[in-house]
Amino acid sequence: MADTAGVCTACGDCCDPVWYPLGPADLRQSASTTAAEDLVFAAAHWTATGDRTEDLHAYRCDRFDAKTRLCTAHEDRPPICRAYPVLLNILPTRCTVRL
Ligand code: SF4
Ligand code: SF4
Repeated sequence: MADTAGVCTACGDCCDPVWYPLGPADLRQSASTTAAEDLVFAAAHWTATGDRTEDLHAYRCDRFDAKTRLCTAHEDRPPICRAYPVLLNILPTRCTVRL
């Protein structure tokens, strides 16, 4: 079996759902006040599922294709999606991008 440690295997789990520290109201407010690319994208494309932990809120992204489990905005995705989940240290069980 190939060694996939450190390589994204495109399992899709980090986008199904997306976990993020800000709740939906804070996300929308921060997007409108800062106009930060990440937050503006998230406010436009993420919908809260209602699931949450003490520190994180779960979102469904409308650019995630549930059939292929791939991102349909791969070329246009914002910086947070390029670094996520490693940047936020939110690593799904199946994630192979472990440091
Ligand atoms: S834009 Fe793509 S990478 Fe970013 S959360 Fe949505 S599906 Fe995932
Ligand atoms: S959970 Fe990890 S391996 Fe799966 S798509 Fe996301 S970064 Fe890649």
